[in-house]
Order: sequence, then C-alpha cells, then structure tokens
Amino acid sequence: MADRKLWNNVINKAQKYTVNDFNRDCPNDDACLESIKEQRFPGGVTHCVKCGVDRKHYRVTGRTAYACERCGNHIFPLAGTIFEKSTTSLYLWFYAIYLMSATKCGISAKQIQRETGVTYKTAWRMFKQIRTLMSEEISLEGSSGEVDETYAGGKRKGLRGRPAVGDLKKVPVVGIVERDTTERKGRVVARVTKDTKMETLQGMVREYVLPKSTVYTDEFLGYGNLGLVRDENHKDMGYRHRRINHSEGVYVASAFGESIHTNTIEGFWSLIKRGIGGTHHAVSAKYLQSYLDEYSFRYNRRDVPRPMFKQLLEQVSERAR
Ligand SMILES: [Zn+2]
Repeated sequence: MADRKLWNNVINKAQKYTVNDFNRDCPNDDACLESIKEQRFPGGVTHCVKCGVDRKHYRVTGRTAYACERCGNHIFPLAGTIFEKSTTSLYLWFYAIYLMSATKCGISAKQIQRETGVTYKTAWRMFKQIRTLMSEEISLEGSSGEVDETYAGGKRKGLRGRPAVGDLKKVPVVGIVERDTTERKGRVVARVTKDTKMETLQGMVREYVLPKSTVYTDEFLGYGNLGLVRDENHKDMGYRHRRINHSEGVYVASAFGESIHTNTIEGFWSLIKRGIGGTHHAVSAKYLQSYLDEYSFRYNRRDVPRPMFKQLLEQVSERAR
C-alpha cells in the first residue's frame, strides 16, 4: 500500500505514454530520425557552413542526412549523439529508450535484449548509453532538506541498514532530498561515497544544500555538528540541524509547526531497493552510481507534465557534443 502510494506520486497522469502512443509517434527509422532532426534543427532550419547563413535543409533519401536547399551541403542530426556510431536501427534505439522510460522500476539489459531481439552485447551497450542520458549534476534549492545514508552491495540484495563493523563489502550511498515547496516537488541527489564519516557527510551537505537551510537527519553520529559546518573560507554555513531519534522508536516529531523526519529520503531509498531487488538482482559498486542516477532522473521529473519517454529523448540532443 505504501509502495503504491509512492508510485502514484512518481508517475502522474500527464506522463502516461502507452506502447500505442509510441508506435504512433515512432513507427520506423525515418520517423525517429525526423524527431531527432526536429529537436536539433527545428523545421530543418540551421546554419549552412557553405552558404554562411541559416537555410532550410531537406531529407536525403536513404541516408541519415539532410541537405541545404540552396547548395546541397549535408547536415547529420545524429552526429555527436549516442546513436552516431551505432549499427543498430534507430527504431530499436527509440524502443529501448521507451522501455527504459516506461517501467516504474527500470529495466535491465536482459529485458532490452528480449524485447528488441538484439544480441545481449548490443542490448548492454544500448542500456549503458541510454543510462548516460540520465546522469546529471543538479543543485538543490529548497530551504529545507533531509539527509540520510544507506548501503548497497555485498552478497545480500538491495539496500540495507547500516552494516555491522567489518562488513567491508557494503557500498555507502548518501542521499539528500529537498522538502516539497508550493512551487514544485522536492528533488533528490544520491551519490556513492567512499564512507559515511562525518567529513564525507558534511561535504555532501556543503555541496548540495543552500546556506541557512534546515537540515533533517536521524541520530547517526556522522551527522554531529552539521549546524557548525563552515564553507571553504571558514564562514559559518548557518545550517539549522534537526534530528529525529529513530533508535527510540520516534519517526516524526512536530515542534512549532515543523515536521521533523527523514521519511522523504527513506521513501526514495525504498524505490531504489525495490528496483534493485526486483529488476537488477545484483548491483556492482561500479554501476551503482548509474542506477542511482536513473532513479534520481525519474524522481526529479515526476511532476513535469510530459511523458518520461519524451523527457528522456530530449536529453539525446541536450547532450549531443
Ligand atoms: Zn547551403
């Protein structure tokens, strides 16, 4: 029940995009190429290096090129994108992107192989490339945020609580989430870190949380002195630190109209835990960050009223070199 509520929160109605929608918008290679062209050169109009001015360009039959209407010079919309050097059809790429955007828990390379019929090696490469579209550096802007750490890896599946002393196989992950504001839903940053020592946790907070914000954590010792954190010039960051004492069985405390808890970031962990446990089985430390990126990407766009497929597709041209 709690999970269903969580997911309804993540996938809103305006983001609904069915396989029929996909087949209507992207029926074949030509339609897919056309959509990339439109993203990068709307209306086919772009600078022609030979003419030295903006010109309209028309599709060159049988090639992934468009030609200047005046001089015939070619432009290549796939240049610099993740599709550029691939021999896999554009339609299958788009379908893989659709699959990765459509499922709530993410999808594995194995599933891409099964659904598209490409070899596992190709599926794995596509999977990794599509993932790169979801990795981003964002800065949080809320005036209050929750910070929490968790651990993934080892022989057991998924993310667990704090490891026993000497359990070195666990990979630490630190997450910071903004509380929702009236303007928008809070976003998240989740990073694999080298440890969960005070210095590391303070570094994350300093990097992602605005000065003078309120920071909510649990009673973990590593969060001691968050209120005293200084910037690189030794200036007080002015954080207001509020802690909830989980070890005493308290999960939400209210004081002067303020809700002290870390339930939002813990909700995010439970999304990831579900995905890793159910879809990806074992996650190596090396790939953990890209899984976190994938979940964060989706989470941070959950209130954007556009299908996730389109949001992901936009990243292709956003990130073209
Ligand atoms: Zn020209």
